[in-house]
Amino acid sequence: MKVLKFGGTSVGSAQRMKNVAKLITGECNIIVLSAMSGTTNSLVEISDYLYKKNPDGANEIINKLTKLYLGHIDELYSTDEYKKKACEYVKLHFDTIRAFTKDLFTMFEEKVILAQGELISTGMMTLYLQECGYKSVLLPALEYMRTDKNAEPDPFYIKDKLLKLLNENKEADLYITQGYICRNAYGEIDNLQRGGSDYSASLIGAAIDAEEIQIWTDIDGMHNNDPRVVANTQPVRYLHFEEAAELAYFGAKILHPTCIQPAKVNNIPVRLLNTMQPEAPGTIVSNELEKGKIKAVAAKDNITAIKIKSGRMLLATGFLRKVFEIFEEYQTPIDMITTSEVGVSVTIDNRKHLDEIVNDLKKFGTVTVDEDMVIVCVVGDLEWDNVGFEARIIQAMKEVPVRMISYGGSNYNVSLLIKAFDKTKALQALSDHLFNHH
Ligand code: ASP
Ligand code: MG
Repeated sequence: MKVLKFGGTSVGSAQRMKNVAKLITGECNIIVLSAMSGTTNSLVEISDYLYKKNPDGANEIINKLTKLYLGHIDELYSTDEYKKKACEYVKLHFDTIRAFTKDLFTMFEEKVILAQGELISTGMMTLYLQECGYKSVLLPALEYMRTDKNAEPDPFYIKDKLLKLLNENKEADLYITQGYICRNAYGEIDNLQRGGSDYSASLIGAAIDAEEIQIWTDIDGMHNNDPRVVANTQPVRYLHFEEAAELAYFGAKILHPTCIQPAKVNNIPVRLLNTMQPEAPGTIVSNELEKGKIKAVAAKDNITAIKIKSGRMLLATGFLRKVFEIFEEYQTPIDMITTSEVGVSVTIDNRKHLDEIVNDLKKFGTVTVDEDMVIVCVVGDLEWDNVGFEARIIQAMKEVPVRMISYGGSNYNVSLLIKAFDKTKALQALSDHLFNHH
């Protein structure tokens, strides 16, 4: 059995839902759906109005959204019977949302509202498949997807409940389920964070020991550079999980970083596919490593670099600990680090506590801040005893001012920190030197 996940744009209209239906009806697999595109954002907006005690603002969006969905229903189903069923189903969910506009609004109500997008899209798809004559069974994620007291998924609970549900519904042609939503350790409705449907798919794949996890989006796999910035990027056919993790974290938007771990640990290949071009091979992410190859370049924007220079660091012990403790105190993760004997530079992407951090760091040395920076990350099998790849990367950057260089944290990436201003030039130069030089 496989797990196929379709994101918001892939189910973003009635026509797209019909296209997805064609792709999923051949085999008995588990299909994970996101909310239709834009819906979760609207639900966030509704919640925002309710937090601000403005039920009229919330109702306006709810009414708009209801109208939009009634239009989708009209287009999706061909019989009055199913149009009616779908209307009733969708209205029920909008009534749930509306009920919260009258009462005290807290985080608990918000999570219930955020869950409605996936509940609606999966309900609509299940009904559509039934109208087309398939025995499609809806597996309610709220009955098996669960997080523990640390807000981490509970793989034993998930496996146990999901296998039971599958067992009770053996006669199905295929299974539909919600991405993103879950219950927490207290049984309350919760979610796996924005973009969490990929994570759902990976957790489900691990639970059923799937043959493969497919993540369907609207581009043809992971590209070897950012197609929005660089001309002539190509899809990457094979990636190791570690390479995919670096790329996902450093800006390649296609796969959510959390999705990698469960698939990797259970050795289940993840295939990235394109709904607009279903026959294209896409990208396969697995535990196979292609030796000695540089695979791709990704960039992470809005980075701030902080340098702490201190004579006291020379031969001192505990200096780095003191520096890192300040970042920890302000819950600000560090992305990149470089050190010299008299100083250390780090980068952060969360600037919320920048002023306090800088202020506290001044106790330990002279502090310099560089804003509007970009981390460029080159990913591949960069095993340290391979020779030449560092030279090629540096050669590509010969016209670009580089603020930090980091290699050796893993065998899979070299990271460079540059000015945002130089991003296009740097990415293009890396593509030209690393991929297009033949
Ligand atoms: N619908 C959720 C979101 O927009 C989850 C997902 O699409 O992965 O964040
Ligand atoms: Mg998504």
